[in-house]
Amino acid sequence: MKFKLAFSLISLGLLSFKPIQGEDPPKKKADNYIKPKYIPVPLGAIRPQGWLKDQLEIMLKGTTGHLDEVYGKLKDDNGWLGGKGDSWEETPYWLDGAVPLAYQLGDAALQKKVLKYINWVLDNQRPSGYFGAITKAEREGKEITLQHPENGDDWWPKMVMLKVLQQYYTATADKRVITFMEKYFNYQKEALKKVKIGNWTEWATSRGHDNMLMAQWLYGINGDKSLLELAGLIQKQSFQWSNWLGNRDWVINAATYQNNDQWMSRHGVNVAMALKTPAIDYQCSGDVRYLKDLKVGFKDLMTLHGLPMGIFSADEDLHGNLPTQGTELCATVEAMYSLEKIIEITGDETYMDALERMTFNALPPQTTDDYNNKQYFQMANQVQISRGVFDFSLPFDREMNNVLGMRSGYTCCLANMHQGWTKYTQSLWYKTEGNGLAALVYAPNVLNTTVNGQEVTVKEETSYPFEDEINFAFSTKKAVTFPFELRIPVWCNEAKIFVNGKEVKSAKGGTITTLNQKWNNGDKVTLKLPMTMSTSNWGHNSRTIERGPLVYALKLEEKWEKGNNNVEGDYFSVYPKSDWNYGLLESIIADPAKNLSVSFKTLPQKFVWNLNSAPIEIKAKGKKIPNWKVVDGVARQPVSDRSGLYKGEVNNEVETLTLVPFGFTKVRIVAFPVVK
Ligand SMILES: [Zn+2]
Repeated sequence: MKFKLAFSLISLGLLSFKPIQGEDPPKKKADNYIKPKYIPVPLGAIRPQGWLKDQLEIMLKGTTGHLDEVYGKLKDDNGWLGGKGDSWEETPYWLDGAVPLAYQLGDAALQKKVLKYINWVLDNQRPSGYFGAITKAEREGKEITLQHPENGDDWWPKMVMLKVLQQYYTATADKRVITFMEKYFNYQKEALKKVKIGNWTEWATSRGHDNMLMAQWLYGINGDKSLLELAGLIQKQSFQWSNWLGNRDWVINAATYQNNDQWMSRHGVNVAMALKTPAIDYQCSGDVRYLKDLKVGFKDLMTLHGLPMGIFSADEDLHGNLPTQGTELCATVEAMYSLEKIIEITGDETYMDALERMTFNALPPQTTDDYNNKQYFQMANQVQISRGVFDFSLPFDREMNNVLGMRSGYTCCLANMHQGWTKYTQSLWYKTEGNGLAALVYAPNVLNTTVNGQEVTVKEETSYPFEDEINFAFSTKKAVTFPFELRIPVWCNEAKIFVNGKEVKSAKGGTITTLNQKWNNGDKVTLKLPMTMSTSNWGHNSRTIERGPLVYALKLEEKWEKGNNNVEGDYFSVYPKSDWNYGLLESIIADPAKNLSVSFKTLPQKFVWNLNSAPIEIKAKGKKIPNWKVVDGVARQPVSDRSGLYKGEVNNEVETLTLVPFGFTKVRIVAFPVVK
């Protein structure tokens, strides 16, 4: 019945995605579990190179490698090491990025450090199967058993710790993880009948799908059907996100109302995490209806709340599409993780394009060069980074949400930000069902893997997204035949593919193309993805200049100031040294290729996402809008009218503006009004 439904929806044109590309529909089984379309490679098989390696090494030197030494909440008497300190989400959050980093860089010291926490968790599983920090009830001498699961504590932080253990397992194949998880999930399946997923916090009800995902991952390994029963039970007790995402009212209401009503389901980070829920529900049930919910929900979210850098407003709630709204760093890294899981399960290219856009634009500017400070909320059009209330739905009364600090705003982001770059790195390669390899998003790296019993190394040489050519060099002892899948980004009109210098194929953007052949040692595939300039349309009919996967922002020299708040510690404010109040000439919108010019610099030896390192510049003509000024710290967006023009006062003088990729900026304009 389900496949008939899918077929009829497709024939009605209601589903534009390809449920299972180029294959027969999956065979009906006793259960309806759908295997992932793309299979992740073990942690450590992908080693970052080039600019990506520089980024991860910065993180290793900074907070990802050392948060437990510099941040009191983790440092002091940690609950995940048996103490009375942090026993909730921040330690697992940190490990969720520190574990992949340790294995991607092969850093023995960080491996040793994270293993201390992993060992404590594994060694201190209770006889019942429960795990986690010692609870208050336990300190009073009570036991956590199936008869008394109420002596336990919040299900939510355990969901993050399960992600940590799962990654650790793929790096090490440490069998303790499997027996530990089997025992825990057995416990959870029974315990949930007495203490429901939301027994301790609403966070667990909102995020139950992260728990389901890990149960389904284990099912993929041991085939124990009781895990699908558990997943179904968690699904029933958790917030019904698939329904919510597929039903448009929520996203419309969220654009209008910033009140207390159902705020947990308009909370930006919850929504970012929930994006993967329909894919998880689909994996568990085989019901393609969920994929439609996903498509509708993601499109609606990005239409009503989307911002030029590829993320949506989340300050802390969804807050419409004005470029002066904020986005929490956790929302970006969680949305990235959601997209990575959606890609794995569904294989839909839409989410690969979305992932690159988010990673290369939204993610980089929200942290400092040393990865030790972050903004709780960044803005798209951000003409100053400072203390203030701004236009945020949750400003907090110390007005610290926009500054760059370690402990400023709320500290979830300080702990959670480490999964962004590391998990993107992990998503650079997948195995395919056809026993081949797939490169679905790009960045420099080396893959070491086994295909058809042969060890294969693929060196992906590129400075993408800063250049339009990607080279894949194959090394293997013996020739080996397998399909190699490559994604062609949607912004690319026509890609060209060369094997050993000879053009073998061209392919349209928004597709996945396959090279099915025998691969010899030394073979080289070149993928050319010509990037053209275009503009896109955002809040108040503003325009953003784009080229390939990058969006461009006005380059503004920065003035940094250091401050201190007695509660939230040291922080930085950043101000521009020059005027920012420009509109773009309408001729640019009419013909971007003709009216914009692009120039390139080589990447610096040691890459860092800051203004000095920006390797691409675009020159554009604009005019100053004298009345566009900072009000309450914010550059409130002038309206370009239906015809696309700002009708207020505009200076006569035409000036040449320099733009750089958004990811390299701290203060900027990215969504421009348009002037005559
Ligand atoms: Zn956060």
